[in-house]
Amino acid sequence: MLADCNLLAHRVYVEGKTRMHNISSPSIEKIAVLIVAAGRGNRAPGDAPKQYRQIAGETVLTKTLKCFAKFPHIMVVIHPDDQDLYEDAVSGLSLNIQTVHGGATRTNSVKAGLNALSAHAPKYVLIHDAARPFLQDRIIQNVIDGLSTHQACVPALPIVDALKTLDGETVDRDSVMRVQTPQGFRFDDIYKAYQDLPKSVNCADDIEIAKRNGHSIKMCEGDESNIKLTYERDFMQKTDTISVTGSGYDVHQICQGTSLWLCGIEIEAGFSLKGHSDADVGLHALTDAILGAIAAGDIGDHFPPTDPKWKGASSDIFLRHAKELVDAQGGNLDHVDVTLICEKPKIKPHREAMRAKIAEILDMPIRRISVKATTTEGLGFTGRAEGIAASAIVSLRIPDAE
Ligand code: MG
Repeated sequence: MLADCNLLAHRVYVEGKTRMHNISSPSIEKIAVLIVAAGRGNRAPGDAPKQYRQIAGETVLTKTLKCFAKFPHIMVVIHPDDQDLYEDAVSGLSLNIQTVHGGATRTNSVKAGLNALSAHAPKYVLIHDAARPFLQDRIIQNVIDGLSTHQACVPALPIVDALKTLDGETVDRDSVMRVQTPQGFRFDDIYKAYQDLPKSVNCADDIEIAKRNGHSIKMCEGDESNIKLTYERDFMQKTDTISVTGSGYDVHQICQGTSLWLCGIEIEAGFSLKGHSDADVGLHALTDAILGAIAAGDIGDHFPPTDPKWKGASSDIFLRHAKELVDAQGGNLDHVDVTLICEKPKIKPHREAMRAKIAEILDMPIRRISVKATTTEGLGFTGRAEGIAASAIVSLRIPDAE
């Protein structure tokens, strides 16, 4: 056994206190890491399976793999449909990673991973959910330590809330624990247990399979931060976001015509607004506000008025583009407030249609869209009906990535 051990200095949890202590641990050369990343993540709907969603500029899988950067043997179980997503996720990593395609269930996926790892004959394996990207070294070390005395080791946490059955009966919470990953095993033991497992059996985790086979199991200390990203709220809470605001202002000159565009709605006003595009002063101010919030210049940078391509263009194109830039940064628009400044036309009859149009373009709930109007009491260029002005303020949350 000593031949497989080296001395590592690390923290050991003792009766609620931490202290530095030297104990023997298996060399990481003997430990393979198996990351289960083949799930479809349908409890947190998004454009991609949750392990490929971005948090603060990185995919969940990228963050998870970085937790195991010191381990020389990493096997990732992926879904065959996710090959491109996977390659993007690991493109910036210089880790020794192999992949294998997973099965229809988690149990089948882990079995495929263990089969692929068997060629390397590791002594131990740490099996970890790709959707737990906030894993601390301390937890990994706790699990490795447990394997020196037990066949399997699982990080666990006590339950704080009172527990009830569906019938309302109280469950003794001191008799149950919440368990996390990575779950550690002696490789030969868990490999054989999976080989012997009837095909119809699907287990919630790997400790369950160790338990079915009578393996000795140690529960070590887990950590609340080692959350499994499951629901949309998990992503929102764990993303390191900041709130930002942006303001925009625009003016267009009134000219001869029959109708004008304001906030995406055509109004038969008996006059028009002059401009290279459709001159929708409301959407222009709003577009600039969004660009301002993400410090992405102004509308003229993205759609130069000198470019004939934008002559007569519908301004919802500009607004959609700004929204796409926010999306690309993993941002979320929270609220929009547009103020139209003019004597005429009257805005109130069109206000709900304007709110609905902006809500549709920005894919936001209408309750978060404000459109209001004011006059300048006959003063200035708006008072003389020479032009219409608009101002806008937006607030949004965005990952605070470097
Ligand atoms: Mg404009």
